[in-house]
Amino acid sequence: MVRKIVFLGPPGAGKGTQAVRLAHELGAPHIATGDLLRSEVQNKTELGMKAKSYMDRGELVPDELVVAMIRGRLENASGFVLDGFPRNLKQAQLLSGVTRVERAVHFALSREEIVKRLSARRICTQCGQVYNLLARPPKHDEICDACHTRLVQRSDDRPEVIENRVEVYTREIKPVLEFYQNQGALREVDARGSVEDVYRAVKRAVS
Ligand code: ADP
Ligand code: AMP
Repeated sequence: MVRKIVFLGPPGAGKGTQAVRLAHELGAPHIATGDLLRSEVQNKTELGMKAKSYMDRGELVPDELVVAMIRGRLENASGFVLDGFPRNLKQAQLLSGVTRVERAVHFALSREEIVKRLSARRICTQCGQVYNLLARPPKHDEICDACHTRLVQRSDDRPEVIENRVEVYTREIKPVLEFYQNQGALREVDARGSVEDVYRAVKRAVS
C-alpha cells in the first residue's frame, strides 16, 4: 500500500468516515483540514477568528492560512491520509512543494446523495465521532455511543450552506483532478455503496 494519500471529493462523500479507518490501518495520521479549522474556531485562536466567516458561508478559507496550518504536519511525515485538502489548484501546487503525494483518491457521489447525507449528519463535538441519522444512527436518540455526549448538527450542514459548498467544490476541483491525473496518481472511487463497499474500493485504490 502507498502511504502518502489525499482524499478528494464533495462534502459529504464519506471521506472522513473512510479516512479514519484507512489511517488506522496504515498507522499514519488522518489530517482533516476541516476538523483542524473547526478546532481553531472553537478555541477562538487568531486563525480560528479569521477562518470562521469563510466557513460559515461555505467558502474556502484563504490558501496561505490552510497551508501554514498543515505544513509542519506533512513535511517529514512518512505517511498521511489528507482529507479535505487540496481544494483548488493553488493548494495542490503548494502541497507538491511540501511533500510528494503518491495517490489521490477521488470519491464520486451525486448531488442528490450529497444533500441527503449532509442533512442527516450529526457529530460529537467531544470525541469527533461522525454519525448519520439515516445510514449510521447512534444507538440512542442523538447521543454519542462512545462518550454519551449529545450530538449536534454542523452549522454548515444547513441547506443554504450545503448548496454553496457543493457549488464551490464543483467550481474548484476540476484542475485538481487533472493535476493528479497528469501525474498518474488519480484513482476514482464510487462513493454510493455501503461504508464497507466503499472501504474495499479505497483499499484497491491505494494498493
Ligand atoms: P466527508 O468527510 O466527505 O464530508 P463524512 O465522512 O462526514 O463525509 O460523511 C458524510 C455523512 O454521510 C456522515 O453522516 C456519514 O456518517 C455518512 N456516510 C459516510 N459514508 C457513508 C456511506 N457509505 N453510506 C451512507 N452514509 C455514509
Ligand atoms: P470540511 O470539514 O472538509 O467539510 O470543511 C469545512 C469548511 O472548512 C469548508 O467549507 C471550508 O470553509 C474550510 N476548509 C476545509 N478545508 C479547507 C481547505 N483545504 N481550503 C480552504 N478551506 C477549507
